[in-house]
Amino acid sequence: MTAFRTLDSADVSNKRVLLRVDLNVPMENGKVSDATRIERVLPTIREIADKGGKVVLLAHFGRPKGRDLKETLRPVAAVVAEHLGRPVGFAEDCVGPAAKAAVDAMKPGDVVLLENTRFHPEEEKNDPVFVKSLAENGDLWVSDAFSAAHRAHASTEGLGHVLPAYAGRTMQAEVEALAHALEAPKRPVLAVVGGAKVSSKLELLGNLVKKVDILVIGGGMANTFLAAQGKAVGKSLCEKDLLDTARSILETAKGANCEIVLPVDATVASEFKAHAANKVVSVDAVGPDDMILDIGPASIETVKGKLAQAKTLVWNGPFGAFELEPFDTGTNAVAREAARLTKAGQLLSVAGGGDTVSALNHAGAAEDFSYVSTAGGAFLEWLEGKPLPGVEILRLR
Ligand code: AMP
Repeated sequence: MTAFRTLDSADVSNKRVLLRVDLNVPMENGKVSDATRIERVLPTIREIADKGGKVVLLAHFGRPKGRDLKETLRPVAAVVAEHLGRPVGFAEDCVGPAAKAAVDAMKPGDVVLLENTRFHPEEEKNDPVFVKSLAENGDLWVSDAFSAAHRAHASTEGLGHVLPAYAGRTMQAEVEALAHALEAPKRPVLAVVGGAKVSSKLELLGNLVKKVDILVIGGGMANTFLAAQGKAVGKSLCEKDLLDTARSILETAKGANCEIVLPVDATVASEFKAHAANKVVSVDAVGPDDMILDIGPASIETVKGKLAQAKTLVWNGPFGAFELEPFDTGTNAVAREAARLTKAGQLLSVAGGGDTVSALNHAGAAEDFSYVSTAGGAFLEWLEGKPLPGVEILRLR
């Protein structure tokens, strides 16, 4: 594991600290509906401010095409202030005179949020001139936005080329948690990959079979693997054009000594609806009108048994259509068992990506996992084994 420069070695006192954070929070009717991302960056903001730094927050919001006040960060500044319990100033631009005036007026310990970096198309192009304009308002750059680290944008990567670069506390925690799970893990490592489709997780499966000892496949994507083994899957979600791909993943796994665990039974229904009439069948007895919506009780027991052998768990994707009761049963049972083993000190558990956080929250298990990543795309790219530019730039060379 390569080391990073962290806040431990940063001298921030009386310095202008450009702090890249993820404030791309969900909004409903002009109000922040989930402040998890804001909560996550508070420790870094507080630490820099308490050490006498001037905290200049940089963030993107939505996908504006140029300056578009529908995507302004202004209302978010107020919510950050509320959660921080301190005033947070706001500047109408992240570069130019408005940004400079706001930053020049700061005293040590002050916090200012600059307007959406994506109001400038140069942000996503990592344009060197734009990077320079951003850098004019900072003495050093701290990145605390792991969730944006799969993008080499001006504020997520470019600034690291022109200013002394440090990992914020959230970035540090995330990278350390992920490194413990896949780079230098305690073995056996068990990965759970579920969710809807194989097609969206091909690279992820390809990487994991080479790195983990046991790969548990669940969710809709397991149907494609069952079909690849010649089993009938009725009306279940199944990607018929990927049967060969599924077979080749199984072959690669064999060559890499990775044990693949597929469901042995399933909860099936005739419609994709909460509380639809359902029954448990063996995966060898799925009828033509059956739709597999969850793993069955025998599969739950199998997965629990595998979990008991594992020292490390990496999880992405639910075991079934967890939004529809009772097809959340498999996901809930396995998530709770993983949480229990983690709490008992027997398992290091890391989860993230897409719907996984809501599935684990739904199961009431997220709190007890070792680490739950709120980063969607970045977490998945990391699972795919890709270097993340916004992380690579922070490594000590
Ligand atoms: P993903 O974003 O790929 O992790 O997929 C998550 C989605 O997969 C959730 O919305 C689940 O409802 C869905 N899903 C999981 N298992 C099944 C299944 N057996 N049939 C249909 N959809 C499923």
